[in-house]
Amino acid sequence: MTAQPAGAAVRVAAAGARNVAELARLAAGCIACPELAAGRTVVVVRSGPPAADVLLLGEAPGADEDRTGTPFVGRAGQLLDGLLAEAGLPRSTVAVANVVQCRPPGNRPPKSAEVARCAGWLDRHLELVDPRLVVTLGRTATAWVLGPRVRLAEVRGREQPFRGRLLLPTYHPSAALRFGPNAAPRAALAADLSRAAALARPRTAR
Ligand code: SF4
Repeated sequence: MTAQPAGAAVRVAAAGARNVAELARLAAGCIACPELAAGRTVVVVRSGPPAADVLLLGEAPGADEDRTGTPFVGRAGQLLDGLLAEAGLPRSTVAVANVVQCRPPGNRPPKSAEVARCAGWLDRHLELVDPRLVVTLGRTATAWVLGPRVRLAEVRGREQPFRGRLLLPTYHPSAALRFGPNAAPRAALAADLSRAAALARPRTAR
């Protein structure tokens, strides 16, 4: 990173990535957020195919993700994989990303300054994957797109335009786990992933 503000330096670095693998290599040494850089094991940038019709966007890596370098591999990830399979949208066909690429200490929510610094990596990731549909999982990811005042309950399950793509906000799988298998968040997440599969269907895999 150079002496310019950290978020701007991230954008400059990310702009040089010609594909997602390069983006991951460039981000691996990012120290724009000193607290996160000091506490992380790895920078968790990518999962899934380098180009995909659907990109799932979560909040931040947790402990399992920090250990393995892959988003959504803990209990929430296992639930997500199952619901994706039920929806006819196998995990192997979707790209997965997070709003911040490093695990916050103690799994605290990412701070707004961290989200802002990391946006350069995520913006470039979106350009490279070029999905027609972005599914935001939970409030932090939805707020990244729709702004900090958004109320997830008011927008979930409703697709809307986003940078020439479609946006579909839904619950985070950890909410579905927290409220249990028979509660509303899990049913809503399952319904929204089925909707995502339907929206993705018209185009064949690239
Ligand atoms: S969260 Fe993003 S911007 Fe901050 S150190 Fe990690 S990769 Fe860099």
